[in-house]
Amino acid sequence: MADIIRLLPDNVANQIAAGEVVQRPASVVKELLENSVDADASEVHLVVSESGKTLIQVSDNGKGMSETDARMALERHATSKIQKAEDIFSILTKGFRGEALASIAAVAKLNMRTRLRGSELGTELKVAANEIESQEFCQCPEGTTIKVQNLFYNIPARRNFLKSNQVELRHIIDEFERVAMAHPEVAFSFEHNNSELFHLEPSTLRQRIVNIFGKRYNEKLVPVSEDTELVKLEGFVGKPEFAKKSRGEQFFFVNHRYIRNPYLHKAVQKAFEGLLLDDSHPSYFLFMELDPARIDVNIHPTKTEIKFEDERVIHSIIRTAVKHSLGQYNIAPSLDFEH
Ligand code: ADP
Ligand code: MG
Repeated sequence: MADIIRLLPDNVANQIAAGEVVQRPASVVKELLENSVDADASEVHLVVSESGKTLIQVSDNGKGMSETDARMALERHATSKIQKAEDIFSILTKGFRGEALASIAAVAKLNMRTRLRGSELGTELKVAANEIESQEFCQCPEGTTIKVQNLFYNIPARRNFLKSNQVELRHIIDEFERVAMAHPEVAFSFEHNNSELFHLEPSTLRQRIVNIFGKRYNEKLVPVSEDTELVKLEGFVGKPEFAKKSRGEQFFFVNHRYIRNPYLHKAVQKAFEGLLLDDSHPSYFLFMELDPARIDVNIHPTKTEIKFEDERVIHSIIRTAVKHSLGQYNIAPSLDFEH
């Protein structure tokens, strides 16, 4: 019998793998913004045209890359963030899988300009369909600028599956807001079709929330704070009278990473019990810090779902802390603490 199994060429493997990481323009935005934050940038600028279908560009003043690293960064499973498998249980960076840039470069045209802090010259790389087309020295600012053009130009099916510009832009804004909220100490700007949608100076979390969601949030927010051996919880919940019919402003962050978690969502909802109309949802912005050894961030390629070792305990800590805060602000009777 003839042998029929072949190893796929790198560019094909990358294109297939890209399906997991790069689902839409917003996925590119998320990956690039997270890379900038991981590179210790204090300023990050996002420029997008046509809801990311034609252009997504992220510039940062982070640590930049050497000439060799600039090329390596585009390889799949190439990362500066971990060295061994156990490292993901002590990880504090957003990335570690080393596949975002390789995936993006497999499904779009990518141009990278990067200069190491303190280095005389930078490197400019032009890449299409995973092939480096040119590499030159450049007089670029310290930090990194990555420009992604014509997303999915080589995968018509994917391109056709994209939603309207309005929907794709909404997804981009969501990703932008999540990263910007996770890092109020970093300045972010966002320009779409030549108009500035966000201009965020470094600030406190409260100020960042107000800058993103509007001034009326200033009177809406009730602080939540709890420090246990397992988890440090900080953030805000919206006062019950501001709860909305639609879901939307509900955010959990774990070690500065936005996550989705229906079970912990219920913990907040429980804390609001009796204070809300049946079909309204409280807003919340809750930050958890916990030992990375007690979570698993590698259960999903985009890492928006994570596993907690002690989910039930965290549930109860959140519920109690939120209830306590609501009580302190004379919004709910604070008589019934439960431990
Ligand atoms: P990961 O973030 O999982 O490591 P990526 O494919 O997103 O994988 O990036 C690969 C590597 O390229 C990173 O580990 C990092 O060393 C480097 N890199 C990517 N973006 C930047 C940036 N904006 N500034 C500095 N280095 C970067
Ligand atoms: Mg990354």
